[in-house]
Amino acid sequence: MKNIIFIAPPAAGKGTQSQLLVEKYGYIHISTGELLRDEVDKKTPLGIKLDDMLKSGTLVSDEIVTELLKKRLTEISIDKNFILDGYPRNVEQAKMLREILAELNLQLGAVIYLNMDLDTAMSRALGRLSCPNCHRGYNKYEEVLKPKNEGLCDVCNIPLVSRSDDNEETFKIRFESYLENTEPLLQYYKDLDILYVVDNSGEPLDTLRQIESVI
Ligand code: AMP
Repeated sequence: MKNIIFIAPPAAGKGTQSQLLVEKYGYIHISTGELLRDEVDKKTPLGIKLDDMLKSGTLVSDEIVTELLKKRLTEISIDKNFILDGYPRNVEQAKMLREILAELNLQLGAVIYLNMDLDTAMSRALGRLSCPNCHRGYNKYEEVLKPKNEGLCDVCNIPLVSRSDDNEETFKIRFESYLENTEPLLQYYKDLDILYVVDNSGEPLDTLRQIESVI
């Protein structure tokens, strides 16, 4: 199995696909957004500084995110495969990642691009819910991602929450930032010959089948 990076617009389904791969293949899911939100939830000194930034949808500095990511990567055992979700977000981060992986002796197997247009991604973002305890993701507008009991986590049975940055205004800022900073990464990884494009317009399980043929 390959270590992978997901690249996609916000709310395109990176989290959903990661969850499916964790359950089916035991991947370790590393989401930099989640690492940052954890700092905010725990009210660490860093988290207090990050709170407004995350709410506004602007990118956190490369140094802060990269340090959190590196710490997380050093914790995983070498025989486990991992998914990077939300990192790298720009070419500078991709270069830093290359150095970190070399230093930790970890290989990158595939960069998977999940394509999605603005309107579909926006409607997914506005319906997105997650469990504050186990971080499992749901969507109130998508049949296959609805919780069994409205508003409650299937596993923890506690109320689901939506992210503070999943509103229309912030979503547009995040989407624009994606186009400006993250899309150039596609060419970067194409040149390295590890980019795979997956059609993400269907059901999550259709997308998963395509990802399985890559990994
Ligand atoms: P996500 O959960 O990936 O949508 O990320 C949520 C927010 O965390 C983003 O809007 C950014 O503010 C921040 N963030 C996550 N990953 C990164 C990254 N690699 N670089 C900079 N900011 C990030």
